[in-house]
Amino acid sequence: MDRLEEFDRVEFVEYMPHIKVWGVLYVSLRFNLAICMCPDGCGYECVMPLKPKPNGWDYEEHDGLVTLSPSIANDCPYKAHFYIRENKIIWV
Ligand SMILES: [Zn+2]
Repeated sequence: MDRLEEFDRVEFVEYMPHIKVWGVLYVSLRFNLAICMCPDGCGYECVMPLKPKPNGWDYEEHDGLVTLSPSIANDCPYKAHFYIRENKIIWV
């Protein structure tokens, strides 16, 4: 599977679904949480708590396009490291 260069869409949810689709970024503002399947295709999840949670990411959203900072380093088989900028994935 090629690694992802951009999320297909963002789903704004209250509760995270158990089954998550690769290419979708799930955001729960109620629980200050963003989760996606790892964009490198490894099958792991990336779990990103958002501020004001401790060690949370900065979250911005404009017209459904999400930016998180700082970068995300996933502890997965391929050690994915990337930024999310307006739904695009910028690989480090
Ligand atoms: Zn991965």
